Amino acid sequence: MSEFESEKYDYVIIGGGAAGLASAQYAARGGLSVLVLDLAGAGGQVLQIADLENYPGVFPAVDGTTFTMTMQKQAESFGAKILQTQVLSIDKTGGSFVVKTKKASYEAACLCIATGAIHRNLEVPGEKEFTGRGVSYCATCDGPFFRNKKIVVVGGGDSACSEAIYLSTLSSDVSIIHRRDTFRAQQAVIDKMLAAGVKPLYDSVVKEIKGGVKVESVIVENVKTGEQSEFACDAVFIFTGMLPQTDLVEMLPKDPSGYILTDENMETSVPGLFAAGDVRSKPFRQVVTAVSDGAIAAHVASERIRNAK
Ligand code: NAP
Repeated sequence: MSEFESEKYDYVIIGGGAAGLASAQYAARGGLSVLVLDLAGAGGQVLQIADLENYPGVFPAVDGTTFTMTMQKQAESFGAKILQTQVLSIDKTGGSFVVKTKKASYEAACLCIATGAIHRNLEVPGEKEFTGRGVSYCATCDGPFFRNKKIVVVGGGDSACSEAIYLSTLSSDVSIIHRRDTFRAQQAVIDKMLAAGVKPLYDSVVKEIKGGVKVESVIVENVKTGEQSEFACDAVFIFTGMLPQTDLVEMLPKDPSGYILTDENMETSVPGLFAAGDVRSKPFRQVVTAVSDGAIAAHVASERIRNAK
C-alpha cells in the first residue's frame, strides 16, 4: 500500500491478543474480509504466560508464545490479515468506520476494539526482573506453581482479596500487604479472605522485591512509622488495579473502572462497533473468556454485514 492509501475491509479488529485473533479467525472463516491491527504484532497478555495449563482442550500445557503463534496461523489460514502498526484514530463516517494509522486509513463495515488492559505495576526494584520468576499478576495462571509455598499478595481491592482467597486454597501461608488500614474490597470478600486464614499486613508498602534466581523476599515499609523489614516469600502476586486500553474510544460508555460497556453480543452503544476481551466490562478475565468474546463479536458482525448486503 502506498502512503495514505485507503483499503476497505468488512471487519477491522484493533488488538491482536486472544480476543482479537479469535475474532479474526471466526470472521474470516465466516467469509468476511478481515484486518487485525496491533502495535506489537500479535499476542497481548497471553505472551506472558509460561504454561497455559487451564485452556480447555490444550493439554499438556503450552507456553503463551506457542499458543499465540498457533492462533495467528489459524486466523491467517482463513484469510485474515494481521498488520503490526499503531492505530492513531477511529471515526465513523456514514455507515462505515475509518481507522487511521500513520501511513494508511482503513474503512470497515464493522469494527472491534480488542485492545485489552494492562496491569498497573508496583514500580519497585526487582518487580520487572522477577516477573515470571516469582512475581505474577495472575493467580489462576501461576498460583499452582506455588502450592504450599510462602505467598505474598499486594493490593487491597476486590482483585487482591479475591485472588488471595483463591491462593489460600493452594497454600496455608498467604499474606496480603495493603497500603492502608482498611481494604477497598467488598466487605463480604474481606470477611471470606480473613476467614480463609490470609494474614493481613496493614499500612504497609513493598519497597523492593529481592532474590537470586527466583523471588526470596520483599522489603516492606510501614507507612506510619517508616520502619522497614525483610519478609521472606516465594511468590509476590500484584493486584494494584488494571488499566483498560480505551484511548481510541473515549466517547464510549464505560463502567466505573473504565471498561467498555457492551451488550451480550459484545456490541457497544455504537451499532457495528464491538468490544471483546479484557477491555470489556465483565466479571472474569481469562484467555478462554477473551476468545469467547471475540467469537461472539465476529458472529454478530457477520450477521450484521450479511443483512446489510
Ligand atoms: P482496584 O479496585 O482499583 O484496587 C486496587 C488496589 O490496589 C487498591 O486497594 C489500591 O489501594 C491498591 N494500590 C493501587 N496502587 C498501589 C500501589 N502503587 N501500591 C500499593 N497498593 C496500590 O482494582 P481491582 O482490585 O483490580 O478491581 C478493579 C475493579 O474490578 C473494581 O471495580 C473491583 O470491584 C472489580 N472486581 C470485582 C471483583 C468481585 O466482585 N469479586 C473481583 C475483582 C475485581 P487503595 O485502596 O489505597 O487505593
